[in-house]
Amino acid sequence: MEKIISLAKRRGFIFQGSEIYGGLAGIYDYGPLGVELRHNIKQYFWDKFIKEREDTYGMSAAILMPAKVWEASGHTELFADLMVECLLCHRRFRADQEEVLSEHEEEHKKSLKEVTTFKKMWSGPKVFNLLVETRLGSSEETATSVYLRGEITQGVHVNFKNVLDSMHPKLPFGIGQIGKAFRNEITPRDFLFRQREFEQMELQYYIKPGEKVGREMFEYWKQFALDWYYGLGFRKESLRLRQHAEDERAHYAKDAWDIEYNMPGIGWKEAWGIHHRGDWDLKRHAEFSGVDLSYFDEVEGKRYIPCDIECSGGVDRAVLFVLLEAYTEDEMNGEKRVYLRLKPELAPVKVAVFPLLKNKPELVEKAREVYLALKKQFGNVLFDDNGNIGKRYRRQDEIGTPYCVTIDFDTLGEKPELKDTVTLRGRDTGKQERVTISGLGERISSKRP
Ligand code: ATP
Repeated sequence: MEKIISLAKRRGFIFQGSEIYGGLAGIYDYGPLGVELRHNIKQYFWDKFIKEREDTYGMSAAILMPAKVWEASGHTELFADLMVECLLCHRRFRADQEEVLSEHEEEHKKSLKEVTTFKKMWSGPKVFNLLVETRLGSSEETATSVYLRGEITQGVHVNFKNVLDSMHPKLPFGIGQIGKAFRNEITPRDFLFRQREFEQMELQYYIKPGEKVGREMFEYWKQFALDWYYGLGFRKESLRLRQHAEDERAHYAKDAWDIEYNMPGIGWKEAWGIHHRGDWDLKRHAEFSGVDLSYFDEVEGKRYIPCDIECSGGVDRAVLFVLLEAYTEDEMNGEKRVYLRLKPELAPVKVAVFPLLKNKPELVEKAREVYLALKKQFGNVLFDDNGNIGKRYRRQDEIGTPYCVTIDFDTLGEKPELKDTVTLRGRDTGKQERVTISGLGERISSKRP
């Protein structure tokens, strides 16, 4: 994790939020490379969950929602963690994170001479609500309390009727979205894993109520979400599915499973949740808003409130897990190197183009020509003429660029039989081959690095 945090900062992936002002705990900013990686992950979600399917719709709801929404969803009352305070230093922690509590105890133990003092360490647990509240309105009297959404889910449920009335879908169908969520986490930690502002990608899949259909659909989406996650490039043994125990489940959930990632040095941690939410959300919003949120089933000739199977994943956790999974140290040509074994589709830079020497205008000109042509085709292409070629390769390896292209004197026709060919170098193996400029685009799209 330390290596990833340092690489992420040094190479422009992720920075501490507002760092020059000392930063904010649990808040991160994405730099030029990180924003591309995150975008590619979100695009892959959108393609698989929305664009390639016939039974789902996309939407984008607002972040600010009235307090009533969160009363209906149960968040005002129940979206809370138990918190304990260290009576020695007054830091606060989640009561259920035993590992963190004992780590903290160890820190004090080291500095305390009297173990007896240590015994009086923790306060009794207090309930702490995670919703982030703010106010909208220009005067004290008229301002109203609103919440930054604690999950993106409710934005879909409150638009269920709008989608029904505008798109006229038949059950089963899904509505997905990607967007920011905010939680006043008591102990933000582990870099992007537990933040106070983060992004989620979700699908709410509405189905006809019933035991059998519920079970079948749940199994289908569990597998679909797992396959999607493997599609990000994870090894078989790095992911697992785990069913929630009864006391872990939300009170309304009929079944709940997590996709977990085996974080190096930390252990199994939640990446996605697949939840059978029953008809809880729509029923509650119908009750609290007074608007009928039932669906008319034309085949059965009756109205009912559909049930919801939810696939809910963290975008930032996916970014972190993809980086952890891709981070590789090996040896090449007798030297240690670090590279990110990212899938080419996810890599922030697709190809890097180098002129062999930066002080030979004819090499630079040709390299610029190749660079611009590739940029048209692949978008994120980088031009680098700084330092020796070996160093340039290492810099690209470290950010996971799958291919490097070098323009040398043979490209210009020094050896006539090699005119208009370049060296293409693959990231994982370091193997180099000679490819014609006209065939470069196809070679890069069809080959693994
Ligand atoms: P946890 O038990 O880790 O607090 P959760 O069960 O509360 O997570 P959900 O409410 O199911 O999480 O949220 C869905 C997804 O959103 C999670 O699987 C995770 O990927 C992501 N997520 C939740 N909380 C955070 C956070 N504080 N920072 C980053 N991502 C988060």
